[in-house]
Amino acid sequence: MNAHTILRAVCLPVIFLMVAAAGPGAERTGLRITYPPDNSVTRFARTRIAGSCAPPCRVSIQGNSVRVYPTGAFVGLVPLNEGENVIEVLAKKGREERRERIRVTCRDPLVSSPVSPLTIDGRMGEPAVDTVLCAGDELRVQLKGSPGMKAFWSLGGLVQNAPLREMAPAGEDLLQGIHGIYRASYRIRAGDHIEKTRVRFRLASGRGEESSAFSPGRVTLLPREELTKGEVSAEGAILSGEPGGERAWELDRGARVNICGDAGGCYRLKLSKGERYWTAKEFVKLLKGEGGWSAVCIGEPSLCRSEGGARLSVPLSGAAPYRVTQAERKNLLVLELFGTSPPRETINLKGVPPVEAVEFPKAESDAVRIVLYMGDRAQWGYRCRRTNEGIELHVRESPGREIGKLAIVIDPGHGGTQIGAVSPTGLQEKELNLMVARAVAEYLNARGARAVLTRNADETLTLAERIERARAARADIFVSIHHDSRPGHCDPMKRRGARTYYGIPHSRPLAERIIKKISKTGMKSNGSAQGNYAVILPPEYLAVLVECGYLSHPRDEEMLVRKEFLTELGRAIGKGIVEYVEKHG
Ligand SMILES: [Zn+2]
Repeated sequence: MNAHTILRAVCLPVIFLMVAAAGPGAERTGLRITYPPDNSVTRFARTRIAGSCAPPCRVSIQGNSVRVYPTGAFVGLVPLNEGENVIEVLAKKGREERRERIRVTCRDPLVSSPVSPLTIDGRMGEPAVDTVLCAGDELRVQLKGSPGMKAFWSLGGLVQNAPLREMAPAGEDLLQGIHGIYRASYRIRAGDHIEKTRVRFRLASGRGEESSAFSPGRVTLLPREELTKGEVSAEGAILSGEPGGERAWELDRGARVNICGDAGGCYRLKLSKGERYWTAKEFVKLLKGEGGWSAVCIGEPSLCRSEGGARLSVPLSGAAPYRVTQAERKNLLVLELFGTSPPRETINLKGVPPVEAVEFPKAESDAVRIVLYMGDRAQWGYRCRRTNEGIELHVRESPGREIGKLAIVIDPGHGGTQIGAVSPTGLQEKELNLMVARAVAEYLNARGARAVLTRNADETLTLAERIERARAARADIFVSIHHDSRPGHCDPMKRRGARTYYGIPHSRPLAERIIKKISKTGMKSNGSAQGNYAVILPPEYLAVLVECGYLSHPRDEEMLVRKEFLTELGRAIGKGIVEYVEKHG
């Protein structure tokens, strides 16, 4: 905050006090607020306040004293009222005093509805937009209102007073801690027919009070599967379980799809009987013609040796959507081809290293699966792509146990204009990431490896550029370095420690080994987990994202503020990589 904003932010008598207190006092307390930025806007009804002073110092936020850590850091969580809030932080050092104020606007906050009077909150009703679905799909409805009540829903003549279930408050999303969210779903049957009708909700207290409301969106249910043909017209069409929801996987350009529903800006795609997903309309071009696509035929597949591994080629008569998955804990790769009919003749393919055996399990009516068994070999990645003839799946073999033979790419997260998280004393994530990443590369290069950084300066890089640089370096292993921070509305004291993430199951053992080494530095370990982060989703190499600790937690910050500790973290990550290669290469 600069002097000008302080002057604008406070009323006249306070300006007078501040002028009186300026000079040596202002210098000595060293008070500064590092989070949130002044004049920020949030939908949450509370915010973290973080900052630092020159200890020994006493600090209070809105009149409540908070702990000051040896680094001078302090954090607090303050409730917000709807509209503009002025938050005051006061630091005292001896007789010196300094006040800082910041403004945080809470707009349209989501809070639990009151138990009394009986209330339905119109904002959270679902379907939120006009929705078209057909037989075989599921209609999901949601109501927000007074918690602890009985809730029912009706839809035209089809659903009469069916119950909704109140959900337990959610974790860290917008609904965090909010009670009174009721949900239900309905499986659409053949013959069900509804035209542009709103869902009617009824909330009853059991003491005779009742309230009712309609969903914002209107529902159309088609009695048959009225499929429409479409084609993926842009690269990277993201599929999700809910309209606009979290990424489940992606379709590539050119894939032909059957459209079986519509909600706001999204289409519902039916890939096979049990596989339906939402995608944004901008990814799909509608094609003329009645009905859906007929099944794509599969020609005779082959498995042969190719550079650095084996290649499975599957000829297809059309551009069927496909997906490659790995079962957690089982060493196999599954290629699924949707909307396809299996080859007529039985197919026997002999294994080619690193693939030990290939199997075609009995096909479901409209999806064919091909399973590649990898035996005892660790997986080192794969690449699947559409060609003019069909689908090609390239499976990589191990690059060997000599660390010097591997290309290792270390990616310091953020950089340039992307600062990342900020600690109470003002440490910037982008800088810490770079220091740790340099220490990892130094450790590896001293052992003869070819470790390169995606950035070695304070440079702004997009996620796609990081992936491009890893591909250009022909990475065998990719490790992205980050530091964590709690969302602004969460209690910063409730999380600390490091965690490693893998996007694809084949990277899980590497993630586990790295976190084990980090735990030996004294940083708390939160283990490893699957994470949907773009940089670790490319499947062609092993990819792990490391969150080295929480910058929002003053105790973690105490460790991360020491340069020697960052070097130690880098060495630990490097050791984890070397050990993994020596064991699984
Ligand atoms: Zn980060």
